[in-house]
Amino acid sequence: MRFFVSGFQHETNSFAQSRADWQAFEKGDFFPPFSRGKAMLELHRTGGLPVSGFLAQAQAHGHEIVPSCWAGASPSGPVTQDAFGKICAVILEDLAQAMHTSALSGIYLDLHGAAVSADCESLETELVRRIRGSTGPAMPIVLSLDLHANVTDELLDLADGAVAYRTYPHVDMEQTGVRAFRLLEQRIAHGGRKFLARRRIPFLIPIVAQATSTEPAAGVYALLAQLEEKGVVTASFATGFPATDVPHCGPCVWAYGADSQDVVDRIYDRVVGARSDWAREIHDADQAVSLALELSQDAVLPVVIADPQDNPGAGTDSNTTGLLHALVAQGAGRRWPHRVALGLLNDPQAADAAWRAGVGTVIRIRVGRSVKGHDGQWSALPLHGDFRVTALHEGKVRLKGPMMTGTLVQPGRCACLELGGILVAVSSEKTQMLDRELYEMLQIHPHQMKLIVNKSAVHFRADFESIASHILIAKSPGPMAVDPGDLPWHKLRVSVATRP
Ligand SMILES: [Zn+2]
Repeated sequence: MRFFVSGFQHETNSFAQSRADWQAFEKGDFFPPFSRGKAMLELHRTGGLPVSGFLAQAQAHGHEIVPSCWAGASPSGPVTQDAFGKICAVILEDLAQAMHTSALSGIYLDLHGAAVSADCESLETELVRRIRGSTGPAMPIVLSLDLHANVTDELLDLADGAVAYRTYPHVDMEQTGVRAFRLLEQRIAHGGRKFLARRRIPFLIPIVAQATSTEPAAGVYALLAQLEEKGVVTASFATGFPATDVPHCGPCVWAYGADSQDVVDRIYDRVVGARSDWAREIHDADQAVSLALELSQDAVLPVVIADPQDNPGAGTDSNTTGLLHALVAQGAGRRWPHRVALGLLNDPQAADAAWRAGVGTVIRIRVGRSVKGHDGQWSALPLHGDFRVTALHEGKVRLKGPMMTGTLVQPGRCACLELGGILVAVSSEKTQMLDRELYEMLQIHPHQMKLIVNKSAVHFRADFESIASHILIAKSPGPMAVDPGDLPWHKLRVSVATRP
């Protein structure tokens, strides 16, 4: 068989100031850079993304792949019309060419599901609508989606099948590509679409409550796998990205096959039945640090504080200082000298100053930025002080943890800056702290720490949960809202509650 393959990934935080322009997709940042044709096949032969899983399966089964492009940019504010226009044009041009050469058996698209631009509320829906417009209704089209997809009804209607990740941290991206391949094969063998059932959850789920190692998410996905074994073709539950201001923002469950309505209803009941359990205990920066210091007394393993309101994975710049100020004010570094770490604080000027000064020197600088928060309030001021440079790293790091294992990330020139016993891991490019290697590169050994502050909401759990005695969630002023109820929603359906 002959499959057309392409990918487009962006998670849009409507409340963030930045934009995903064409340059952002060319660069990719945390994703691989834009690639097309043979270069796309080569780049995604391995790498842990859904497209890699699909390609490996399709090629192992001897199918021919017609590669178009794969374009992804780090989460941020909306995608520019220019960037989306270029990506769409490439895909449609390649598709026209592919269909002209010889018949296609099917199309696979590696999509996110929460991408928007200023004038389009679902770029994935728009892309598939245009593709469907070229191919007509008979062409099998299968999608894989992020667990954070805000799925539109039209997207599900346009595609012959869609499957979402089932883990957060996303450690099953490649597997999701494999499931998409099987779904496409089944669709072709079956000769038509399977019955689709779907239901929307009537409330938003905060990002920090979506971690699939914790309840109620763990139980929901276990139920989903169990029900799937009993006969539906496939079922998905996307928890949604609760910072995309569109009518269809929110969690959605869907399944294909004869019994799919029953399966969807059971998953829906489980999610909604546990409604109050989707809320999380959240502390302000001072409370989080004082509780962490208290817990660290008796804990053998480090206490980890998540800083989800400055999580670059949700479109922030990873540079706020609220928790750092709280650590300093409460003498965390005096209590546990060199055993308190914070990272990654994105501050190119501070990293540059450390590189110019060298290891062992003390530099008087200010680190971090005061930025406008989701509520219009400014975050804490930069922290001014005499920092000792304890380590430097050129900032090319291969991840070793369970998420994106083996992926090369480039936080740029990095430095460990020590202030009163607190170790601050500073980077030149924003990079989410989701792998212990991002500390290890600067001689900070996470398992030896008493207290760690991570600029991440959930992905850090993949590599830190096993070494953490406690995980606390802080609400330190920043651009992302840990509580979606704090955001000034304009377009969300009124029937959807902004809190569980
Ligand atoms: Zn995601």
